[in-house]
Amino acid sequence: MTDHREPLSSVLETIGETPLVDVQDAPDAVPVYAKLESFNPGASVKDRIGKYMLERMLERGDVGEGGTVVEPTAGNTGIGLAVAAGQLDLNAVFVVPERFSVEKQQLMRALGAEVVNTPSEEGMGLAIDRAHQIAEELDDAVVPQQFSNPLNVEAHYETTAPEIDAALDGEVGAVVAGCGTGGTLMGLAEYFRERDPDTYVVAVEPAGSAYREFLGEDVEHEEYKTEGIGTHDIDRNELFDPEIVDDIVAVPDREVHEEMARLAAEEGQLVASSAAANAIAAKRVARDIRDGAIDAPHDAVATIFCDSSERYLSKGVYRSFEEWEG
Ligand code: PMP
Repeated sequence: MTDHREPLSSVLETIGETPLVDVQDAPDAVPVYAKLESFNPGASVKDRIGKYMLERMLERGDVGEGGTVVEPTAGNTGIGLAVAAGQLDLNAVFVVPERFSVEKQQLMRALGAEVVNTPSEEGMGLAIDRAHQIAEELDDAVVPQQFSNPLNVEAHYETTAPEIDAALDGEVGAVVAGCGTGGTLMGLAEYFRERDPDTYVVAVEPAGSAYREFLGEDVEHEEYKTEGIGTHDIDRNELFDPEIVDDIVAVPDREVHEEMARLAAEEGQLVASSAAANAIAAKRVARDIRDGAIDAPHDAVATIFCDSSERYLSKGVYRSFEEWEG
């Protein structure tokens, strides 16, 4: 475990060992704890997979020092990969559809990465194709592809999950996490199910997103403002295993918007929309455990606050609901 009181040789050593903080609005009998992932150097949960995937890929020889990492990404993963690539002597190229957060693209560039934009109308599909095309044209390049790479899940199984387990002395009864790739939730679920097969596992998505199709539900696809989680095409979410989840909870943007403001005003938590969605779902699970509607082996619920609201201020996250741009 990294001792943060000692001098460290690079920011890579500051990734992980983030604080776990009580969500005060949860019932006293069943506490909810959130892992504050904005404490990572690239300020999100994705620093973990950036470091973990690139270190393993270098070890395996998928890419050599001086080689290039090419990834289609809308944001946090690009920043996480750029932080790690810079320190591991790798170049980074990110293919980003134009409409995604300008702040995030600026940070990727500042970290030394090249950003290639694709037209927004073509969606992530074109960005993925372009990334593979660019990688093929380069001498030594690799596409980590976070949506299908098992190292994404492994990063959380090896780091996020044991950190939560140690902080809560093995008392985790339920894990609740929003799913973009699903890597975070799958890593937590695999770890805690091995510890106790009855651990309750909940996936979170914005209302309008289609993860519930994995459970055979008919979902009306709609745009949503909550950022970083959800899907409109479950065929792309190759890491998500519906067998391992007990429930998939859809949270409407309006509730997320209100919870983001409440978390800041009442709990001093400057967290973004996916964290607020997780807080809402985790508190609901905690109340259901307290009321006996959910049977969980222990009374603590663990969730993730993936990144900070500062990254989205220009989108008006703290203005009125109508002014918030998704
Ligand atoms: N929240 C935010 C802000 C994110 O950027 C992401 C990653 N897209 C997630 C949550 C979800 O993480 P995962 O991809 O591990 O499901």
